[in-house]
Amino acid sequence: MTRGPSAFSAGIPDDLPVLVDAARGDSAARGDSLVPGARGDSMAPGARGDSIVPSARGTETLRGIAGSPGVAIGTAVVIGAPKAEHPRRRIRSAEIDTELERFQSAVERAQDELRDMAKRVESHHRAEASILEAYLLMLGDEALADAVKRQVSEERRCAEWAVAAACEAIAGRFAALDDPYLRERSHDVTFVGERLLRAFSVPPPPDPPPSDAEPLSTRNLAALQSPLPATLGAALPRFSGPTILIAQDLSPADTAAMVDEPVVGFVTEVGTRTSHTSIMARALEIPAVVGVSDVLQRISTGDLVAIDGLRGTVVVRPGPAELAEARARAERHVALAKELSEARHRAAQTKDGVKVSLRANVELPAEAILARDQGADGIGLYRTEFLYIDRTSPPSEEQQFEIFRAVVEALRPKPVTLRTFDIGGDKFVSTFQVPPEMNPMLGLRAVRLALSRPDVFLEHLRAMVRASAYGDVRIMIPMVAGLGELRQVRALLHRAQEQVRARGQACADEIPLGVMIEVPAAAIMVDHFAREAAFLSLGTNDLIQYALAVDRTSRSLAYLASPFDPSILRLIAKVIQAGRDFSRPVSICGAMASDPLAALLLLGLGIRDFSMEAAAIPEIKETLRRITVTEAESVAAEALACATAEEAECCVAAAFAPDLYDLLTGERDTK
Ligand code: PEP
Ligand code: MG
Repeated sequence: MTRGPSAFSAGIPDDLPVLVDAARGDSAARGDSLVPGARGDSMAPGARGDSIVPSARGTETLRGIAGSPGVAIGTAVVIGAPKAEHPRRRIRSAEIDTELERFQSAVERAQDELRDMAKRVESHHRAEASILEAYLLMLGDEALADAVKRQVSEERRCAEWAVAAACEAIAGRFAALDDPYLRERSHDVTFVGERLLRAFSVPPPPDPPPSDAEPLSTRNLAALQSPLPATLGAALPRFSGPTILIAQDLSPADTAAMVDEPVVGFVTEVGTRTSHTSIMARALEIPAVVGVSDVLQRISTGDLVAIDGLRGTVVVRPGPAELAEARARAERHVALAKELSEARHRAAQTKDGVKVSLRANVELPAEAILARDQGADGIGLYRTEFLYIDRTSPPSEEQQFEIFRAVVEALRPKPVTLRTFDIGGDKFVSTFQVPPEMNPMLGLRAVRLALSRPDVFLEHLRAMVRASAYGDVRIMIPMVAGLGELRQVRALLHRAQEQVRARGQACADEIPLGVMIEVPAAAIMVDHFAREAAFLSLGTNDLIQYALAVDRTSRSLAYLASPFDPSILRLIAKVIQAGRDFSRPVSICGAMASDPLAALLLLGLGIRDFSMEAAAIPEIKETLRRITVTEAESVAAEALACATAEEAECCVAAAFAPDLYDLLTGERDTK
């Protein structure tokens, strides 16, 4: 390797560091900009101590929870990776030579990793390859070696401690410079130090993975080339190719921002199928695996990763066989999805011809088009709180009205159910500056928050009322626990209608006002709600959470949060009965509706009105077309009589899984 001028010399900026030379195209970076973007851009990996180099470990398969279906292959970008731990040990003089040899071996190992990675990414990510080459130069820099030597022989520090101290001192010198560009380079020094520290404990690298590892995803990403979103961009390396984000958690805002990015999938340590991040991923059709233990320790930025959002598996650093299998599975999944999608305009009915309605849950206005294209019979749940993403103050009435109107017009003449904002719990509290609560899921959330801020709530309601002039609008209240809340909202809705009319603005004469049944108290008192509400919608995500006392975002308790639990089935049956008694429509908009086996159970219990992420509609339509209501009713009666969730699930699976093999596995039955 040719050495450039010192990357770490004290004479900055006279003695320009090699890093800066490389950035300007003068040295080993072969003319490519070190920083993909303008001068002064932060080179993000170092900014968080994240690395853009894959670990040298072999193939590993991690298991998590299937968050959003689809298979995706791409380069991992780890957000918020923990810093490398290192020992701090004073050494004896007899150990100096050994420690310096250990340092030299770690440098060589880190350089081998970087060279290997540079080779792998060269054909796809030329800019990233240039960055890696600049890091290689930094690793071999004499100034670093001298600083480490001093730390070891004079300060009597072990090699790792010496590296950490030397890099910290060098990074500090960069950080103190006036030139913003040079100042940013301190992050790169930190990054190189991290790599070096990790190299002390890394075993020798395995054979390199195949070089023809073409990234592939079930989404068509050809057109997606823009930089990462503002919320994430500052913290991420800017890979231009298909990227799989690895994070402890992703906020719904971050997930939503991925829609225009080269992100083809994500893996998180926390989360379950009903956590909001999974809901967003399904809405955006981004494959996701959530609830993967220790994911930040087990995947490094730059690793090739294949994720399967149907099985809930993540193959890290796949070899040729795993890669071929993932590609084949992605193709089969795409083929099946295409087949289902082509049949999406067939009638939504059971095998014995009973009509059902399949509506869409949407979070973003753009999904209205997707819902229409998937043949949705309307929108059964518009999670309007997503308008409050990434804001510190609520959107204006006018902004909300324009969005509601666009959604309503896109679906006209089909109905659109606007749910008043469900803010709080794990969603968007910043907008309302809600003080931190010990248990936000049981705190100032949804209708409680709305009623505590009638000014803001009235604006929200007025926007909905005005949208009712453009189509079939219904309004639904989340998290209702007592009848008093329904009555208060009704009074505010009437006031909003009067205010809109007083301004001379158009609105529908009647706007049906319904409630979500998602708090056990409301399910228990459902006869009273059925008498006063225009419709009932079962929110099983929260109903399960509150009835079973299981945090819906808890990975480790996810096994307890079963929609097949007989206690949940009894509550659902009770709600359906109340709907019949009072001639009120009862629908379901929880994630249970988009699970094929659970959907059949709901059919048997009497549900005819389902609402789910738009992408799941073709699959559930096909599911319902394969089974008769009579079959579903007899299995539901059996499940209702079961004593445990396992028994009920087994009973439903034994009856229907053979008929749904392809839908449940994403594979054709080849037997
Ligand atoms: C539910 O709780 O089932 C529901 C549909 O609402 P959300 O997931 O938005 O809480
Ligand atoms: Mg809910």
